[in-house]
This record gives sequence, structure tokens and C-alpha cells, in this order.
Amino acid sequence: LERVASGHAHLATAITEPKVGHNVFRSETTVRRDRERFIVNGLKGVTSGIEIAERILVLGRVPGDRDPGAPQQFTTVLIDPRAPGMTREELPMRGREGVRQWQIQLDDVEAPLDALVGVEGQGLLTLWPFTHVERLLSAALCVGSARYCLSRALSRASERTIFGQRPIGAEQAIQHPLAWLHARTEATELFTYRAAARFDAGADRLAVAGEANIAKLLSADLLFDAADHAVQTLGALAWDEREALLDVFLDARLARSGPVSQELVLNFIAQHVLGLPSHR
Ligand SMILES: Cc1cc2nc3c(=O)[nH]c(=O)nc-3n(C[C@H](O)[C@H](O)[C@H](O)COP(=O)(O)OP(=O)(O)OC[C@H]3O[C@@H](n4cnc5c(N)ncnc54)[C@H](O)[C@@H]3O)c2cc1C
Repeated sequence: LERVASGHAHLATAITEPKVGHNVFRSETTVRRDRERFIVNGLKGVTSGIEIAERILVLGRVPGDRDPGAPQQFTTVLIDPRAPGMTREELPMRGREGVRQWQIQLDDVEAPLDALVGVEGQGLLTLWPFTHVERLLSAALCVGSARYCLSRALSRASERTIFGQRPIGAEQAIQHPLAWLHARTEATELFTYRAAARFDAGADRLAVAGEANIAKLLSADLLFDAADHAVQTLGALAWDEREALLDVFLDARLARSGPVSQELVLNFIAQHVLGLPSHR
């Protein structure tokens, strides 16, 4: 963990499972303590970057709940990607996230006791602040990518002239969406920085969770619209592989589905920030 925290080692996270999707409460992976070690079994879905990771953070349930009415217990442990019992299959996914995507099978994978992260049986509490950081990081990436898309659109809008003497950027049909995007980028960046600063300052956890979700929600839609308008402004040029803009467009779409979908974020805001009842 120290190597990860200091930036010397990459960490992959294996939370998602093929059968349960966003609903981690239904995780079928088990993390069992057996005297001086943990034993992990299960199948994890899309897991990014195992090829560069030194450890994988795995969430699994404590097996053998004796009392069905008792709260579910989960444990988070770090496993070695090279540990015996772990097999990985690369998923043929598009996108240029910079790392490869894998599905991993865990058959009696062993981890030492000091691989425990947080408290045994309270793995969801370990994971929760981690998701705030992930959402804030995702929001910051989206804001930066949105700025990039806007800069691509602006430079083309300023130079491309096809009717008369003035470039297409003189047309309000081109100007207004870009002005909107600029305004949204400025506001979303400020909100993201504020949420990150409040997280760092140790603000109330529920407030931080709400803000991390809001930042993720706004920034994912911002990036998608920015990539869309960049493609629109570049016209046919956007489809030329040498421009490398279509990859940005594809990656921009991912932010609406991961690391958490917009719908799940809206559910969280509705129920935990606004206090509306759960549909379940
Ligand atoms: C490129 C990529 C990399 C990833 N890397 C990782 C990783 O490293 N580690 C990891 O653990 N996971 C990773 N994931 C998984 C990702 O973060 C999501 O958790 C996962 O995609 C969600 O599961 P699912 O795809 O099965 O969607 P599902 O849970 O099946 O959801 C499908 C759709 O239904 C909607 N939906 C479901 N339930 C509700 C509801 N109650 N209300 C409203 N809408 C609902 C969702 O919003 C979504 O749009 C990655 C995914 C991708 C695409």
C-alpha cells in the first residue's frame, strides 16, 4: 500500500463482476480468512491495467453468513497478479484508456494477512472513500479532456473558411455551442476542485460523496458534448485517423458509463443528497 500511495506502484481494482454489474452488494467473490492468510475465490469482470499493476485490490464477501438477517460482510485485500490460482483473459475492448482490460478468475488465490486493506468484514467502508477519489479523478480527467476538445474545435473554427471571407467560427451556430462549453468547463472545473479540496480537508463524508458524484455527473456529460462539438466543428476531418479525434470521442463516451454510470450517480444524489426514498 505504501508503494501505491507514494506513486511507486500501480494498483488495479477488481470490484465489478459479470453477473452483478453495478450492484456490488451481490458480489459472489469470497475472501475467507484461513489462519495466517486470506483465500480468495471468484470471477471479476472488467479490470483495468493488470499488465502494469503490482497489486490488485479485490472486494469479496465473507463466506458462510450464519445468520441470514445479519448485515452482509465484505473484505478488501490486495492480491499479487502473479499469485498461483489467478488466471486472466484479455477483453477485446475499444478505447485508448492507456491500459488493457481483463477478466480474472480467482481459484484459491492466497494473500498474506498484511494484505488486508481496512478492517476485515468492513470492506465496503474501505471501498467507499476510494470511490470518491475515483470519481473526482474521473471528473478532473473529463474536464481536462473537455478543454482539449474545445481547443481543437476553436482552432478549426478560427481557420476554416468556406463561405465568404470569414471563418466558420464567425457563425453563431458554431460560436454558441463552444461558448456554452467554455462556460460549463469553467464551472465544472471549479466545482471539481472545490470537491477535491473538501475531500482533502476531511469534510463530512456524506457531503464529500454527494459532491464527488455531482462532479462526475457534470464532467462526464460536459466531455461527451465537448467531444461531439469538436467532431461537428472539424467536419469530415474529424473522421481522418491522423487527427486522432475519433479516439477522444470514443473515450469521452466511456465516462458516462464508468467508473460508475450516470444513472447510479443520479440515484445516489436523489436518495442520499435529496433524501428521496429508494425504489427498492
Ligand atoms: C473500459 C472499462 C474499464 C473498467 N475498469 C474497471 C476496473 O478496473 N475495475 C472494476 O471493478 N470495474 C471496471 N469497469 C466496470 C465499470 O466501472 C462499471 O462498474 C461496470 O461497467 C458496471 O457494470 P455493467 O457494465 O455490468 O453494467 P450494469 O450494472 O449491468 O448496468 C447496465 C446499465 O443499467 C443501468 N442501471 C442498472 N441498475 C440501475 C438502477 N438501479 N437505476 C438506473 N439505472 C440502472 C446502469 O446505469 C447502466 O447504464 C470498467 C468498465 C469499462 C467499460
